[in-house]
Amino acid sequence: MALHVVKYGHPVLRQKGAAIPTITPEVRGLIEAMFEAMYAAKGVGLAAQQVGHALQLCVIDIRGSERPSTAEVDGHPVDPSSLMPLALVNPKLKPFGAEVDGAEGCLSFPEIYSDITRPEGVEVEALNQHGQTVRFKAWGLLSRAIQHENDHLNGILFIDRMTQDDRKEHKPEIDALHAETKAKLKKK
Ligand code: ZN
Repeated sequence: MALHVVKYGHPVLRQKGAAIPTITPEVRGLIEAMFEAMYAAKGVGLAAQQVGHALQLCVIDIRGSERPSTAEVDGHPVDPSSLMPLALVNPKLKPFGAEVDGAEGCLSFPEIYSDITRPEGVEVEALNQHGQTVRFKAWGLLSRAIQHENDHLNGILFIDRMTQDDRKEHKPEIDALHAETKAKLKKK
């Protein structure tokens, strides 16, 4: 099943995701299809909401980016690539550290980029695609991607975290995208 990435203006992007009680074959199929859609769009992360499902599920793979990441498991540094491809089911996040700025985009907001301020590190506990519990800490792009995707699972979008100035600067594009999506939904 080829999944379509929904754009800003689609109501599912504002829905909080439901917890996934068990990793059924259907969930595994959805995860696989989400990875395919994310790689096809050359993204580093994709949330279930972005493919029309309000669930506590996102997929991440930062290996295609040159932006640095670091990670730790059980207090020991690990190669972040060793955690990829990463599916997070029912993730619990504890962000920590100083607030840092970094560029972000979103597959549901084509061509719109902005610096977003977030804590530099994040501690993550989740189930992976195999139903195993994973625990790790991340910094850099991986931390940022996880925090961005986890926001999606709660109906929060990166435009909500833009500075007032950035939001104002991007307002015409954001409004146009919203109107275009609404018009497409009406036609269906
Ligand atoms: Zn996004």
